[in-house]
Amino acid sequence: MLKKVPCAWIKAVRGHERNSPLQQMYKKNVEVCRHRLAVTPVVANQSHNVTMDFMEPYRDCVLCPRRCGVNRVLGGEDARPGYCGETDQLRVAHVGPHFGEEPPISGWNGSGTIFFTGCSLRCPFCQNHQISHKGVGRGIDLEQLAREVIHTVRRDHVHNVNFVTPDHFFPHVFELVSRLRRQGLSIPLVFNLSGYQSKEVLERAGDYVDIYLPDFKYADPSLAARLSGCGNYPRTALEAIVEMVRQKGFLDSFLTDASLAARGVLVRHLILPGKISNSIQALSTLFVEFGPDLPLSLMSQYHPVVPQKDKDLNRGVSGEEFNRVYSHAEGLGFRHLFVQFPEKGPRQLKEASPFLPDFERPEPFPLIGLGREEK
Ligand code: SF4
Repeated sequence: MLKKVPCAWIKAVRGHERNSPLQQMYKKNVEVCRHRLAVTPVVANQSHNVTMDFMEPYRDCVLCPRRCGVNRVLGGEDARPGYCGETDQLRVAHVGPHFGEEPPISGWNGSGTIFFTGCSLRCPFCQNHQISHKGVGRGIDLEQLAREVIHTVRRDHVHNVNFVTPDHFFPHVFELVSRLRRQGLSIPLVFNLSGYQSKEVLERAGDYVDIYLPDFKYADPSLAARLSGCGNYPRTALEAIVEMVRQKGFLDSFLTDASLAARGVLVRHLILPGKISNSIQALSTLFVEFGPDLPLSLMSQYHPVVPQKDKDLNRGVSGEEFNRVYSHAEGLGFRHLFVQFPEKGPRQLKEASPFLPDFERPEPFPLIGLGREEK
């Protein structure tokens, strides 16, 4: 039975199978992995102090698993951007409410997103290509960014502050969170991540976040190497998600049936056209590691933004491809599943998509306002 929710997301309420052959096949592995997922208890009144020189990590940057080791601090003789394309100059492409996240994140007033310029993963098919590859964005200081965040919280009554691809600017983000909390901000803080994060960096990030929204893009190392230049993505991302779950547990709204999430982890998987075996492998991997209670979003919104070398990626996901992946998720028995069903035939390059932002416009998202209309 399916229950309709806003923003083109469908919550699969009872879509899963119980004791299916697939579940039986993986059950033994799930029991073996479960002991690793004991959630760390909430520590009250964390200090949220950052180091005196919060810019220090930019001097020999190993903020992400690319570990470039470059000096990103502008002014130094050897200063230069790393693989992420960014120096220590904080840059953002958009600050404002966004209604395209899953319902417990977007709610009815929207999620208060901050889209950071640059990305440490830089997949060629990125749906936010303008900011991850082309460097669209404006330089901003922390004081001004704090003002803009507070402004959107007060004006739009967003349900959370959502840091989108923030990891290459984590030192700024930690300092920003500390400032916002000193100013009394108490709504949940969301880190919206590629999944390509090191456990060590996440251990430091844990004090500054309530909800993690990591991707699990690849289970196939050779596909990760070919498309995103990181054959270690599957292992790295799985370790990262284990650490996130250890810190925050599974997204609480699924456990309490609340309309809005306050804490926890929701994993996302974007189905890529022509790469269905990777998707099937990704779901199996997540199931073996976390079991059927892992909150999961299955996204079919892929849209070719710029011409791709891999010819499969020049079209959208077909209904048949989506059904194969969705059936696998159902067969595994995932209980907490959000899905986006493809609306029609596969989208082609340059065809408009309601999910595709344009960061060169003041309001990048065509769907902005939809949540309010459907409230
Ligand atoms: S954050 Fe950027 S500069 Fe630092 S290691 Fe990652 S890609 Fe390299």
